[in-house]
Amino acid sequence: MAFHTQGKAELEEQFSVDSGRGLTTEQVNARLLEQGENRLAAKKKKTWLQRFLMQFKDVMIIILIIAAAISFGLAIYENEPSSFFEPALILLIVIINAIMGVLQESKAEKALDALMGLSVQKARVLRDGQECVIDSVKLVEGDIILLEAGDYVPADARLLRSSNLKSEESALTGESVPSEKDALATVKEDAPLGDRTNMVFSGCSITYGTAVAMVVATGMKTEMGKIASLLNNEQEEQTPLQRKLAVLGKYLGIAALLACAIIFVIGLVDKAMSPIELFMVSVSLAVSAIPEGLPAIVTIVLSIGVQRMVKRNAIIRRLPAVETLGSASVICSDKTGTLTQNRMTLTEAWADGMDEPAHIGMSAQEPICTLLKYGSLCCDGSVVFVGDDITHIGDPTETAIVFAAHRNGMPKEAINRELPRVFELPFDSERKRMTTLHRMGDKYLVIVKGAFDGLEPLCIKGDLQKAEAVLSDMSQRALRVLAIAYKIIDVLPKEPTMEEMENGLELLGLVGMIDPPREEARVAVMTCKEAGIKPVMITGDHVITATAIAKQLGIFNEGDESVTGAELALMSDEQLDQRVRNISVYARVSPEDKIRIVKAWQRADQVVSMTGDGVNDAPALKAADIGCAMGITGTDVAKGTADMTLSDDNFATIVEAVKEGRGIYDNIKKVVGFLLGTNIGEVLVVFFAMILWRKTPLLSMQLLWINLVTDSLPAIALGREAVNERIMHQKPKSKNESIFSHGLGIKIALQGIMFAIITLVAFQIGLKATGTDEGGRTMAFMTLSLMQVIHAFNMRSDRSLFASNPFANKSLNIAILISTAMIWLVLLVPPIQQVFALVALPVKYYFISIAMALIPIPVMEIAKAIGLVKHRH
Ligand code: ATP
Repeated sequence: MAFHTQGKAELEEQFSVDSGRGLTTEQVNARLLEQGENRLAAKKKKTWLQRFLMQFKDVMIIILIIAAAISFGLAIYENEPSSFFEPALILLIVIINAIMGVLQESKAEKALDALMGLSVQKARVLRDGQECVIDSVKLVEGDIILLEAGDYVPADARLLRSSNLKSEESALTGESVPSEKDALATVKEDAPLGDRTNMVFSGCSITYGTAVAMVVATGMKTEMGKIASLLNNEQEEQTPLQRKLAVLGKYLGIAALLACAIIFVIGLVDKAMSPIELFMVSVSLAVSAIPEGLPAIVTIVLSIGVQRMVKRNAIIRRLPAVETLGSASVICSDKTGTLTQNRMTLTEAWADGMDEPAHIGMSAQEPICTLLKYGSLCCDGSVVFVGDDITHIGDPTETAIVFAAHRNGMPKEAINRELPRVFELPFDSERKRMTTLHRMGDKYLVIVKGAFDGLEPLCIKGDLQKAEAVLSDMSQRALRVLAIAYKIIDVLPKEPTMEEMENGLELLGLVGMIDPPREEARVAVMTCKEAGIKPVMITGDHVITATAIAKQLGIFNEGDESVTGAELALMSDEQLDQRVRNISVYARVSPEDKIRIVKAWQRADQVVSMTGDGVNDAPALKAADIGCAMGITGTDVAKGTADMTLSDDNFATIVEAVKEGRGIYDNIKKVVGFLLGTNIGEVLVVFFAMILWRKTPLLSMQLLWINLVTDSLPAIALGREAVNERIMHQKPKSKNESIFSHGLGIKIALQGIMFAIITLVAFQIGLKATGTDEGGRTMAFMTLSLMQVIHAFNMRSDRSLFASNPFANKSLNIAILISTAMIWLVLLVPPIQQVFALVALPVKYYFISIAMALIPIPVMEIAKAIGLVKHRH
């Protein structure tokens, strides 16, 4: 029988579980062994061999291999043993290159997997009679789970109890309007998924209400598991930068091919070399010139950044977000807990009839006592005393009230016993208030607490005008103010609804609490301003309170505007567009307003980051360029939608992440600059030498070796460069900025030309000194390869190499050591030297070559000094 037609008792029997206590640990362990973990089967991983073979999908590499094979065949045919070397070596280098490619890609992949691992989903379950939180993968059939708004459903489950439950099931049914769920509904056996209203399904989210449910299917047995094979073919996502680089790679490839074709034709006409050798030089050159490792290196550099961000409490869910973060120009942030400490202390209260608010200590008198008592009754939070230690449990706004009542002789348990709660309408940030109903002898007491502006129209008694004046005074002093009102009714309403309870109230008074700004937020706001980023406060709190805190933090400056949700509602999009740059505080807003604010900034061409925690925040988080979910107070849905989760809920963390993002973008620019500069240098050397002298200064295997030695290790190490503090003194880069803006393109071209000239001169020196082509090539090979490796140091920064410790990047030092060793190995160890067609030179020439390889350092220093080299403005 299907689960949706079974009753609770049947299910309890089927899964041998007592739904009031949950499974026992033994049952869970046994079932985990038998059923496996609650996860969808992962995509099949490629085998190492498959990955290795994938490296050869590049057309140029295939051509190179074919050319080498032909050359090898010719050598056998002509029976010329010395001609074996070159093609064999080419194959060897191609293979080493492929292995490096596999290693790089698997490193990038591992980083991506780690990213997935950062966002493990949790579930609340009842086990051994106790509620606990576990990783969702550890759920088994029969587990009793507790769900609330904002949760993802961790497995398919039959509802046992539910209250106002709604679930969004678009992932399964395509229906995006949340469907109402009810544990008690009767559902026909053949009802389609969308109509099984007494079930909830894995991967869907709870948008409203609460429920207790029994897990009936986990992992691949869930409805989501059944369609998981469809989901598995998801393409891996490329970042915008990777896409841009891919296009660039294509153009470069075409240019390189053209150059190689010209070289080939000139050589052929002139009979400078044997056609096959010439062909191999051309193809090797093309292979060297095309930066095929670039996408993998970009992924590695991005993921290095992700790891750094995790250490700073920012968890990134999608790699492209790292890049977007770097260009953030507006940061919209919630107030409570993000900009403030969310450590509320009730310091003042005003009761109807008083002249002014009183300070609250431990000796409150009537009527303040009643105010605090009723306030505390209308709270879900509690404070627990263990010896001298006080623990606050629940919403800090509520625990502040409960604590103040407690200190004045009204512990929550006692007043709860005196006036037991019969019913409640929970707080939600849309209504900005909460209502409870208590038994009071043979009558009933209704207490409403919440924002004064919302409560005022519901009150028929009390000095509302005076209250308004007091509210304004308290708010100006940055206090968060809550109004408390009540009424006494004779009979219990049949259905206690909002309409029934929230009217005809008497205002009791106001309570004011302080929530100090976070110290680090103040500093972070300053950093934002220096970095040309606009911080904006978005809060449900009162406009005066919000503005006062925004002033303390430096978010609100002279001439800025504060706008309330009500005012925002009256503004047209055009009016908002005109004012948006000037508005620093949005108060009394609801989650829907956040989307409008995001869109307005985006229309002004800004890159917007937005924070959020609730289910209702999800659309705004999605709409923002960078959605930031709160790690502590955030719901699953918010975290699942956001690009980034702040594990400390802290504004300063966003700013840190932006800094990392900028640093990473800069590092990627350095890597691209380095790779392209050196590759262009190689092409130009051969190109000009062929045109000028009909000779190639580098043979194919020499070119491939240089490419192997310089392209991967130093490039990745450059991507590990530490983020420079100065990066936050610059304006954000614009949304559509090309990676080649600010002269990077010219810089690369000039570097390529510099490499070419120096190498050509080295080639000539070698030719003259030894009178042989081999001697010339040895000089060219030595100079060009050393020069490229040393040049990595120049690329570390757009400031002088000596402005800071040139050897500060340890990874780069190691990479350079390894690369240099690989160069000298080929140059100096006799059999290898011969295989590479290199020769020994008189000692003097090694020194000359090293000196020439160092030339780019002073050249780049001069270029930097006169401002020719700049990553940004
Ligand atoms: P932010 O969006 O910056 O986190 P916030 O936490 O002040 O701001 P909400 O929690 O939505 O925003 O609160 C909005 C308003 O609702 C508060 O100013 C207060 O008047 C009222 N309020 C907050 N918490 C409660 C509560 N537990 N019970 C009743 N009213 C509350």
